Amino acid sequence: MMKTAIKSNTLDVYAIRRQFPILNRKVKDNALVYFDNAATSQKPQAVIDALVHYYSYYNANIHRGIHTLAEEATAAFEESRTAAQQFINASSREEIVFTRGTTEGINLVAATWGRQNIKAGDEIIVSNMEHHSNIVPWQVLCEEKGAILKVIPINEDGELLLDDYEKLLSTNTKLVSVVHASNALGTVNPVKKIIDLAHATGAVVLIDGAQSSVHLDIDVQALNCDFFVFSSHKIYGPTGVGVFFGKKNLLESMPVYQGGGEMIKEVNFEKTIFNDLPYKYEAGTPNIGDTIAFKTALDFVKNIGKEKIRKHEEMLLDYATEQLENLPGLKIVGKAKEKVSVISFVIDKIHPQDLGILLDNRGIAVRTGHHCAQPLMDRFCIPGTTRASFAMYNTKEEIDTLVVGLEKAIKMLA
Ligand code: PMP
Repeated sequence: MMKTAIKSNTLDVYAIRRQFPILNRKVKDNALVYFDNAATSQKPQAVIDALVHYYSYYNANIHRGIHTLAEEATAAFEESRTAAQQFINASSREEIVFTRGTTEGINLVAATWGRQNIKAGDEIIVSNMEHHSNIVPWQVLCEEKGAILKVIPINEDGELLLDDYEKLLSTNTKLVSVVHASNALGTVNPVKKIIDLAHATGAVVLIDGAQSSVHLDIDVQALNCDFFVFSSHKIYGPTGVGVFFGKKNLLESMPVYQGGGEMIKEVNFEKTIFNDLPYKYEAGTPNIGDTIAFKTALDFVKNIGKEKIRKHEEMLLDYATEQLENLPGLKIVGKAKEKVSVISFVIDKIHPQDLGILLDNRGIAVRTGHHCAQPLMDRFCIPGTTRASFAMYNTKEEIDTLVVGLEKAIKMLA
């Protein structure tokens, strides 16, 4: 790392980098520049240690055992629930259900609330910038029920057209399911307004927080959303863990998701009495170790402070935008006024995949392709983009390395 590098005035990025062991590795003889954070973030040593500690010291199944290990594991697992509750300011722990991730959270709502409440002729609204995981479950449900999927259009900058959204809303609208921050464009959507408008027509709202939860302060009470879903692995935590928040009254009235152990109070062949919230939705042995280490990730973010992290990431986004815009033939896709630190772009005459390979040869990890948002790519009439997404440990020098890599690629390929 360069000694002369300027420290961010708000966050000691080099002290933070030292806590992420993977950042020391080389890729093809180059220092790794990891700009694929929107796909998954790297993990600090503390999170890795929490996993190792669980498996080496108190691995046990939870909730059922009375022995010491089971009690310790149960306590740690439930502490993660409290940490998740506080992270999004939910009013009670009963509203926090652990899942495999954002995708499972959305599918859970489709399979439970959706099956119960959506009828033929009802309408579900999504936006043109959704991840496939916030499209396909609703398409499947609409097909099954004879319901209709409607789409909020976006402008050239990648912002939702709110007037069009208002026109789509009617008493037929039963659900609005929109992304808080787009993984492909970085756009931050005005979700509070979207929620208020939906509620005025009596619709329920799900917010996909997969990208927003790592960058923005989340307050589900202030937002007043009905459902909010996000994934641990995008917030410096392990893969395989997600949070599904639902308002208590909805969770109480919805049918169960999966049947099995843990989600019951009593079973006989005539009838099953289901467990209390949130266990009603957590059938089977959960991902105990990863869920416990997820708390360590949330604590890690909390201790540094989201405000500090956000300022640093905004600085990186502004700097990268300025630098990339100067490159010949490069066009940024997604220029919303409100963005998280995601920058998607296309370069004249260069296929994103070729660019991705050239950058990887220089140790730079970016994502190329449709970013699981094919309808969004169709909207811009492009097959895909190259995306650089920044996390708290990224530096301006790494952006300079990307710019040099792009300059070389343009000379070679364009
Ligand atoms: N929604 C958005 C906006 C995302 O970025 C992602 C992950 N790329 C998902 C949903 C799905 O998240 P997961 O794969 O963790 O379930």
